[in-house]
Parts: sequence; structure tokens; C-alpha cells
Amino acid sequence: MILGIDVGATNMRAGLFSGDGRLIRAKMGKTPQVNVQENVPRALVELSKEVAGEQWSSIKACGVATIGPLDSKRGVILKAPNIAEKGVDIPILSHIRRELEVDYYHLNDCNAAAYGEWWAMMNRGFRNLIYITISSGIGGGVVDNGHLILGKQGNGAEVGHIIVDVQGYMKCGCGGDGHWEAYCSGANIPVLAAKLLRDGRIRRGTELERELTESRLDAKRCFELYYAGDPGALDLLGILRDYYAAGLAGVINAFDAEVLVLGGAIYLGNEEFFNREVIPRIDRYLLLDKPEIVKPVHGDLAPLHGAALVARDRIEAARVE
Ligand SMILES: [Zn+2]
Repeated sequence: MILGIDVGATNMRAGLFSGDGRLIRAKMGKTPQVNVQENVPRALVELSKEVAGEQWSSIKACGVATIGPLDSKRGVILKAPNIAEKGVDIPILSHIRRELEVDYYHLNDCNAAAYGEWWAMMNRGFRNLIYITISSGIGGGVVDNGHLILGKQGNGAEVGHIIVDVQGYMKCGCGGDGHWEAYCSGANIPVLAAKLLRDGRIRRGTELERELTESRLDAKRCFELYYAGDPGALDLLGILRDYYAAGLAGVINAFDAEVLVLGGAIYLGNEEFFNREVIPRIDRYLLLDKPEIVKPVHGDLAPLHGAALVARDRIEAARVE
């Protein structure tokens, strides 16, 4: 048996997998938001024991996918930027290692998702796959000729932080200037809208401005207003479509993959906008042809599957020392 775990900013999941990588059962719980150094590692053990039940002692390896940035050699989430209690290192394996003596593998959730999706599509013969999720943040992972890119401590393929604007109109949550995520992620779209409005780059006196002033504008509303023809939202997404296209093209150019798995709530909830306004625009920035673009086979469970498969395959670069 293989234990897979996925620790997100809001939810965490644990799954029991058979030796051939099949999910037997999974459970979901809330990620603790206070005293996280202690409570997250403890919640991880409880959820794992619940899902494993009597098969706890049959577990031979454990793969853990988490939000980044991370130090995978030590099994630590560094200064967790997306949990309510910010800036704290979380040693996620500190409790479970006392109770379950197996090899542990730790990797970024989007890297795990890339590996899980690559396995799920194995029958189609892809050797090179890019995974990108556009939701509250932007994350990615890359499988290159069957090899998962992980980097020196598990932060490889952090595509949300590629630079789409050297002038740095927007500052990213990570502190960097002009990062893709600072323009296009769900959490940042309303922040960008406020700045563009202040700078007179999108029309005023619109529903977009009204909802922004009343602090009730989120990314989902921006798209709804766009579909309803609100002039402010048309201006906003008219600017955003180029940032989406530029970011996607930058990643495609860098990795020469056959397939791009595109997921996340912002994309999946607005395929109409992406198919009409973004995907065709990618061509303007591309060196070669576009890869095939598909949706994730495993949906929200992609990181969980990938974590278990990395443990099953005993990928050395992700092994916790
Ligand atoms: Zn950044």
C-alpha cells in the first residue's frame, strides 16, 4: 500500500493507493489555520490514519504534495504564504514520522499534479507534459521525457512567478515585480482592477467600479460582468487576455511539450473566455506550434494521485532525508 497526502491552503486530503497506483479510498479535511506548525502535522496524521484504517501497517511508502515554497529534503513548507497564519515554516512530517517508519517523498502540489496527470495519460504516449492551474494562484509542473522536473529543493517549474512585465506594474505576493500570478490569479485580479481603475486605464462609472468600491468584487464577478457586457470588465479582461496568453506562451516555449494540461477554477469556470480570447492569442508569442490543450483527468485529486505515484516510483529527487 502507498499513502498519498495533499496539503492545500484550505483543504487537505489523504488517500490509500494500491501498489499499482490505484486509489482505494480518500478523505478530505480542513487545513488548520492557527498554530500551523503544530496543528497541520497533527491533522495530517489523523486524516492518514482514518483513511488507512486497518491497513496502516501495510503502508510501504508515503508521498506528500503541499503548497510551496518548500524544502523537500527536510519535508518543510517554507514561510507558508497562503495560509491564514502567514510566514511560518511548517515541518509537515514531524508527527507522522514518529508513527510510520517508511520512506517519505515531498513535492510541490503542482509538480505532483503534473506527474499524476502524466500517468493518467500514459496510454496516449505523451513523453512531455506541462500542467498549469489557474485558480487563486497560478502553479505548474513539467514532465520532460518521462522525468519530473523538481529543482534543487522542490520548487522547480514555479511558472506562476515568470515575469510578464519588467516594469513591475504589479508586485507579486512573493515580493517579486511583474510576476504572472500578480496579474492573472484569482486572488490578484481584483487588486489589478483597482489599480487600473485608479490609473484611468479602465472605464469609470461601471458596475465593476461600484462593486470594487463596496469591496465585493472577486475574480468570479469580474468574469460575470464581462459576460454581461459591463464596460469596466470588458476593459479589464481586454488587458488581462494578453497577460494570460503571454504567460502560457512563455511556459510552452520553455518546455517543448506535446500536451498542456490546463486546470484551476479560473480556467475551468471560464473556458468560453479562454477559448475565444486567450488560446488563439498564444500563437503571437510562440516559437513553435501549440501543444494539445486538455483538462485534468483527475481534477482536484491530481496532486494526491501524483504524490502517491512519486512515492511508488521512489523518485529520489523528492525523497525526504
Ligand atoms: Zn511571485
